[in-house]
Amino acid sequence: MSQVRVRFAPSPTGFFHIGSARTALFNWLYARHMGGKFILRIEDTDKERNSEAFLNVILDSMRWLGMDWDEGPGMGGPHGPYFQSQRTELYRTKLRELADKGRAYEKDGAWWLRLEGARSRAHDEHLKRDYEKVDSPPMVLDDLVRGRVERAEDRDFVIFRSNGEPVFHFVNVVDDIEMRITHVIRGEDHLSNTSKHVELFRAFGVEPPRYAHIPLILKSDGPGKMSKRDQGALIEEYQRRRFLPEAVRNYLCLLGWTPADGKEVLPIGEIVRQFDLKEVHQSNARFDERKMSHVNAQTLRGLPAAEFAALARPILLETKVIDASVSDARLAEVLGIVQEKVISLEHLPEFMGFFFTADFKQDEGAKANLTKKGGDPVARVRELLPALEAAEWTEPALEAAFAAVGAANNRKPTDYFAPVRFGISGQGGGPHLLSVLRVLGRERSLARLRAYAS
Ligand code: GLU
Repeated sequence: MSQVRVRFAPSPTGFFHIGSARTALFNWLYARHMGGKFILRIEDTDKERNSEAFLNVILDSMRWLGMDWDEGPGMGGPHGPYFQSQRTELYRTKLRELADKGRAYEKDGAWWLRLEGARSRAHDEHLKRDYEKVDSPPMVLDDLVRGRVERAEDRDFVIFRSNGEPVFHFVNVVDDIEMRITHVIRGEDHLSNTSKHVELFRAFGVEPPRYAHIPLILKSDGPGKMSKRDQGALIEEYQRRRFLPEAVRNYLCLLGWTPADGKEVLPIGEIVRQFDLKEVHQSNARFDERKMSHVNAQTLRGLPAAEFAALARPILLETKVIDASVSDARLAEVLGIVQEKVISLEHLPEFMGFFFTADFKQDEGAKANLTKKGGDPVARVRELLPALEAAEWTEPALEAAFAAVGAANNRKPTDYFAPVRFGISGQGGGPHLLSVLRVLGRERSLARLRAYAS
């Protein structure tokens, strides 16, 4: 088989959202899996709705997600230009080609594709009637994801509008032909266009590519399709929220595809190795922001400590959680217990600020939780303090102190955890408490607990 050539063909008419990114990604994965080429083509024929700003968001998000293209904007390639707005001459030429073959005709200023034989229904004598359903065999499409799909075009359709602008179906197919596209991987919303596209390929006398229509992405909380307006829909939002691009990309891979052994958080090289169109699900995928966060947290946890520190330090400096005087060693100690618990780098400042200042904020929700069931957190800390003061400052010794005080007061050791955590950090959650005490150190921990208990 000839080399696989796939393309992502966005129209820059809106922000780059999860659905588009996932379509781009499945094309990219397939190209990389097959050792083929990934082409980026900008379908910007709609002058009214296109914008340079949207184009830049697409390019920027694709680069951020590490989806490099082999041909396209900024890369060039043998079949350029890769902007449809710059290919008008070609479209006119290709229209003439169809007209010369008798497969396109003009009517009311627009150009129509003439379907083959008896199926053509827009001849002059028929125009004034309603189109009746034509008894012609449906076209059978062997979709790589959907399997066998039957569709029929039963009437001629417009390929060039009376204002001289080519129609989406026409430019899409002309470019797929010119760019030697072997596989069209796109959202299921385009399935209904495919019979038109196949008719066009046939009219040009070209074998159509293989199609793979990938499932829709449903919004997290309802039956509908995810839209650009839904919470969590835009890629740039994850960029802003300091998600790791490899984690976002990893999560997108899971929207309609599952790794063979069920291990979902994995390096991109492994995904590329495993990915195949045949295993893309037929059923719709549901967007789940919690799962996205989970994948991000897992990916953070898997980073080498030095890499995590290199990501964290500039954020902590910028948010003034630390200043340049904090040593790598001290930072590494704190990050060592934070890394396995933090969900996103965005949360680092609030998550670990208390290690570097006693002047931390008290979380109101955490405070309310402490006293919810009539608990008295200050009393708990008072009960515990003498034992902590007497303890050696190691995790096992501290754990023993909690246990002893619990036993003496007929309480669980964990009854003391939340009050202590709140007393030293003002938070309701965070890294493992005994580790926090160890890394915060004896003097600082006891001073904060005494202040809280007084
Ligand atoms: N410009 C079309 C879109 O954004 C491309 C469709 C296709 O991939 O064929 O939906």
